[in-house]
Formats: sequence, structure tokens, C-alpha cells
Amino acid sequence: SKEWHLVRRPEGWPVPEDFALVTVELPAPGAGQIVVRNSFVSVDPYMRGRMNDVPSYAPPYVLGEPMLGGAVGEVVASANPEIPVGTTVLHGLGWREYALVDAGQARVVDPALAPVSAYLGALGMTGLTAYAGLLSVAGMKPGDTVFVSGAAGAVGQMVGQIAKLRGASRVIGSAGSPEKVAHLTGKLGFDAAFDYHDGPVAKLLAEAAPQGVDVYFDNVGGEHLEAAIGAMNLHARAAICGAIAQYNSTETPTGPRNMAYLIGKRLRLEGFLVGDHAGLMPQFLAEVGPWLRDGKILAEETVTDGVDNAVEAFLGMLRGQNLGKMLVRV
Ligand code: NDP
Repeated sequence: SKEWHLVRRPEGWPVPEDFALVTVELPAPGAGQIVVRNSFVSVDPYMRGRMNDVPSYAPPYVLGEPMLGGAVGEVVASANPEIPVGTTVLHGLGWREYALVDAGQARVVDPALAPVSAYLGALGMTGLTAYAGLLSVAGMKPGDTVFVSGAAGAVGQMVGQIAKLRGASRVIGSAGSPEKVAHLTGKLGFDAAFDYHDGPVAKLLAEAAPQGVDVYFDNVGGEHLEAAIGAMNLHARAAICGAIAQYNSTETPTGPRNMAYLIGKRLRLEGFLVGDHAGLMPQFLAEVGPWLRDGKILAEETVTDGVDNAVEAFLGMLRGQNLGKMLVRV
């Protein structure tokens, strides 16, 4: 079985030499264990953080060991009577072809309800991130104007569409190319969108949100967050989800330099981790599952074929080559 190891900690942008594709022999499953042939593995921005040797909410990847990450696949050998051969499961041993998974470390998913890849995206971690951040953390209400950065990505595309379906009066997105902007307004029902390369974000946002912003869903940080604080209305809320603009930067992070607005405008900015909102999963699946099934939500995926190309897929995602969720088909 092939698996990807981190062999050197990246400085700034990761390069292929930081990773090694290693072939290993998998042992037969011990009591309670299963062997899974991964169908899809996920590549996510948070993995960049785990490549650094710094304390964080997720422990650093260990050099010379396989990297971890979300995966779905089919059980091909089982010493666990509750999860027989042929079952489809979601688990955390991605970045590899086959995984030996301990009892309790896999969740059975239903391949009849949705394509299995959805359990890594729209009906999985990134979908729940959007749902929890928008509704629970930012407390979006019908009639709100919502702005989401990274809007054409896995989390962002869900934020915008859930906001519309939950009665937002205006949804604005930012993304990194004209094609993505056209997709947001043409296919996903965003009311306005802009390419953040086209000028200062504060100016582009002011044009797209002349009435200001009530909820900001931040995937990017830096200049985007500063612009959003400037545009936020009285009592507006921001869910601080990610800061991808600085994950590969070797420079001191920039602003926001306008934090004093929090006082007069009584703003609330709140960071969150999706893991703390696992209790919302049943409600999320009950509400978003039918939207997805009925085509009210379009969940784009960009699929790279072959476990050999997982590093390329990961780097491509960091560069913005994905529309929607970036996945590797093993
Ligand atoms: P995406 O699918 O959005 O992929 C990353 C995207 O980031 C790229 O497609 C690219 O799109 C954009 N990007 C890259 N560099 C920059 C930059 N310098 N400025 C602006 N945009 C940039 O990833 P996810 O949807 O999986 O994650 C989105 C965010 O949510 C990340 O910040 C991630 O860390 C965070 N997250 C947080 C979680 C939590 O629990 N708090 C859980 C899951 C995700 P473009 O072409 O538009 O530049």
C-alpha cells in the first residue's frame, strides 16, 4: 500500500521534496480492526498547519510517518463484527491507499444517500464548518447581509448557499479568479461577487455591499478581515474560520488595523473550530442533506486522480486551483 510521509517541515510554501511516497506492507486486522481501501482522501488547508512543529489544536505531523486526514473507503478485511467487508466508512487515515483502522475510529456512512465523496465535503467536515460557523457562531438571521471570503472553496460555497436558503437578504462572495466569480453569481445564487485581485478589498466590498454587512464569514484573514470590519454594520458578527492568506507566509501577518471599530459598532468577532460543533451533525444532515439531494445546493468538487498526485492536489488547493472541495480519488 502506498502512503505519503512528511519528511521535512516546509518553510513558507511547501515543495514536493518535503514529502515522500512510501510503499508499506499492511498487516492483517487485529481484533476490532478493519482494513479500508480508500476511495477518496481529502486535502485541506489545516494540514498546512500540521506540517509545522508548533503547538496547535491539532498535533504536528510526525516526520517520517504517514500524514493524517479525512478519507472514505470500503472495508476489504474485517476483524470487527459490526463493520463487515463491503461497508463504506469515513475515517481519519487519509493520504494513503489502504488504512488499518482501529475499533471506534471509523464511522459507517450510507453510499445510497449521497456520493461517498460528499462525506468529505458538503455532508462532511467542510459542510458542517459552514453550517456551524454561519448559523451558530455568527447567528445569521433572515434579512441579514452576509459576506463570505474564499467563497468558491469547499466551506465558502456552502456558506453562501446556506445563507440564501436561510433567508439572507444579500449574499456577497470574494474569490481569486473571474471564472470563480462568474460561478458564484451565475450558478450558486450569490447576489454579488468580486475577484480580490481587482483592487483593494475594502473598495470592492463597499461596491458590492452598499448597505454594509451584518455577518462576515472569514476564511482568509488579513486584508479581507480588515475590509469586512470596515463594512460591518452596528451589532454585526463575524465567524473567524480560517486565515489562509497567511498559512504560507513567512512575513509578520498584516492587520486588521481598524479593531477600534469593534467598540463603536459593538461588533462581535468569534473564532471557532468545527470539532466543537459535532453535536450539530444530526441537525446539519437533516437540513442540508435534502437541499443537496433536491439540487437546491450545488456542491462542486475538484477531483485529482491517483494517490501519487495527492501532494500536487494539496498544493493546487493552496494555490486556488480548486472549485469547491478538493479531493483525491485513490
Ligand atoms: P478551500 O476549498 O476554500 O481551498 C482554499 C482556497 O483558499 C483556495 O481555493 C483559494 O481560492 C483560497 N486562497 C488561497 N490563498 C489565498 C489568499 N492569499 N487570499 C485569499 N484566498 C486564498 O478550503 P476549505 O474550504 O477547506 O477551507 C477554507 C477556510 O476554512 C480555510 O481558511 C481553512 O483553514 C478554514 N477551515 C476552518 C475550519 C475550522 O474548524 N475553523 C474547518 C475547515 C476549514 P481563491 O482562488 O479564491 O484564492
